[in-house]
Order: sequence, then structure tokens, then C-alpha cells
Amino acid sequence: MNSSMIGKIEKARRYAEEPDRAQIRSLHVEFRGDHDVYDVRLVGGQWSCTCHSFTALGLGTCSHIMAMERLLGPMMPADVPVSGHSAATL
Ligand SMILES: [Zn+2]
Repeated sequence: MNSSMIGKIEKARRYAEEPDRAQIRSLHVEFRGDHDVYDVRLVGGQWSCTCHSFTALGLGTCSHIMAMERLLGPMMPADVPVSGHSAATL
């Protein structure tokens, strides 16, 4: 492996330890819940999910979206409100 590639790998390792460098702007996740598989999307700063809770309750969030917010953590864009913020501190 040449030294230029080694330098890139070292830089990638350092970048990966600072996840707030990467802000996710759009996302499509196939989320396997306990009962079914759902499509969770982040588009234009808005979350959506195909599960019954999201579509029927009108809360703007659901357990799948809240789980994604936890998984993404510092990679969530600062301008997207965290839907499960109060729940995330429980
Ligand atoms: Zn959902």
C-alpha cells in the first residue's frame, strides 16, 4: 500500500471519531420492527415512516424515527428538530 493511501486511511479514522463532521441530509432506511418492515425517510428536514403509529396518530414521530435519531446521534443535522428529544432523555 502506498503512503498516500495510508495517509487517507489515517485521516478517515480520525474523521470517524468526530461524527459531527458528517451531517445527514437525506436518508431512506428499511426498518425491521417487531411486527413488520417499515420505510423510514428523512427528506427536506422532515421525517416520515410507513408504520401505523406514524400515519394514524399524527404525532410526527414514532418508535422507528426515535430509534433512528438515537442511532444517528451527532450526525443529525442541527436544523432538523429532534422528535424524540424528551423521550431520548428518559
Ligand atoms: Zn414508524
